[in-house]
Amino acid sequence: MFSQICFLCAGTSQQSICEGCLADLPYQHTACIHCARALRVVGVCKECQDVPPLFQYTQAIFSYEYPVNKLIQVAKFNRNLAVLNLLGDVMAHHLDLHQRPDVLIPVPLHPKRLHERGYNQSVELAKRIVRYTQIPLDYTACERCRNTPPQTSLPAKQRKINLKGAFQVQRVESGWQHIAIIDDVMTTGATVNELAEMFLQKGVARVDAWCCARR
Ligand SMILES: [Zn+2]
Ligand SMILES: [Zn+2]
Repeated sequence: MFSQICFLCAGTSQQSICEGCLADLPYQHTACIHCARALRVVGVCKECQDVPPLFQYTQAIFSYEYPVNKLIQVAKFNRNLAVLNLLGDVMAHHLDLHQRPDVLIPVPLHPKRLHERGYNQSVELAKRIVRYTQIPLDYTACERCRNTPPQTSLPAKQRKINLKGAFQVQRVESGWQHIAIIDDVMTTGATVNELAEMFLQKGVARVDAWCCARR
């Protein structure tokens, strides 16, 4: 009945990561309700008190620490779709669905990067979430029209500038009052904030962020 080797401990497993290793992953517990920055108690972090983000509520399932950082890297850059799908399943199981969004919008990749990678990791995560939640997914409403340097390569202050004009919202459906942006890793929140601004301008009332891991 065991048909695989756990990617992390090399033990026998029914899926790409065994139950024991899954249970040991660095789940995020207490965090800022707006931006999911880790806090000792649930509340609003100093950064969000100073400059409230345009998105309302962030759910981050993991802290971006070992081995989740390694799992996301292999999922993104080594075409390990089994690990990517499993991360999506774990996300889906851990999301709080009390305030259901009308649609899931994955952070778009620039067509050039999509072509190089072969898939958009945020779309793949969103597809797994759809399976559990039945919330519709739309990956054509918004596109990345500028191929910007990776946010992680830039200091925090340049990240917002880097994203100016990077995205274009093509279409907002009339039923989309509340959307959730799906992202693999949230670092400063600049990407989600930029997308939130564009969707709010198009008449969406509320934007949340659902990300796999928070730095
Ligand atoms: Zn294991
Ligand atoms: Zn915050």
